[in-house]
Amino acid sequence: MSAIRKTPGELELMDEANRVVHRVLDGLAERVAPGVTTRELDRWAEGLIRDAGGVPAFRNYRGFPSTLCTALNDVIVHGIPDDRPLREGDILGIDCGVLYKGYYGDAARTYAVGAISEEAERLLRVTSEALNLGIEQVRPGGRLSDIGHAIQRHVEGHGFSIVREFVGHGVGTALHEDPQVPNFGRAGKGLRLKPGLVLAIEPMVNAGSPEVKTDADGWTARTADGSLSAHFEYSVAVTPAGPWVLGCDHPLNERLNARKAS
Ligand code: MG
Ligand code: MG
Repeated sequence: MSAIRKTPGELELMDEANRVVHRVLDGLAERVAPGVTTRELDRWAEGLIRDAGGVPAFRNYRGFPSTLCTALNDVIVHGIPDDRPLREGDILGIDCGVLYKGYYGDAARTYAVGAISEEAERLLRVTSEALNLGIEQVRPGGRLSDIGHAIQRHVEGHGFSIVREFVGHGVGTALHEDPQVPNFGRAGKGLRLKPGLVLAIEPMVNAGSPEVKTDADGWTARTADGSLSAHFEYSVAVTPAGPWVLGCDHPLNERLNARKAS
């Protein structure tokens, strides 16, 4: 398994690509609401990406038909935008990929549609926390499986389950590069992390059992038991000072910024 390390200049370009992704995800936070359709959200996102000089990365990827992957309620990932209006109480995962100046940005969030149940709130919070705990493991000399181990421990400690069928990945001039980044496993195994590596870390967490089933469309992956599922993702660079969460002002970047400023 070979992992491609990027130069500092390439990391700056990947930050720019992810800035476009996060402009989409931030804008969606204001647009996700009862009555809106995922197709409307998809059209808006495509317009923003193309106006920014980017190309939607998922459209036509192995035949995928849209800009966004939209994952409603029991959908885990890879749902296709459609014309059903969102309803109060839904949760909606949105995954966005952008190709910009030759590099890919990739990130995802799960949004609450209006007021959601306490269990759904807890699922979103725990999944997001687990992602941040995984990111905290990103440092030179750390091991790849430290990331998944931290994620799994947090998720299972809260009574939820980790999907095994889909994992995170390296990202760069290809949307999916080596290594695979599982959201589970024992600590201290696998690739030793080195500066310049960029990982898309993306836990998929089910409220019920971890099993997955795929719809007849060949894309939409759902929980086998119909329980809710949440998905958050950041693209994260390994730097000598620790993780750099690309494309956004993440609290974990503060340490890096302090170091740059000093
Ligand atoms: Mg993604
Ligand atoms: Mg990804």
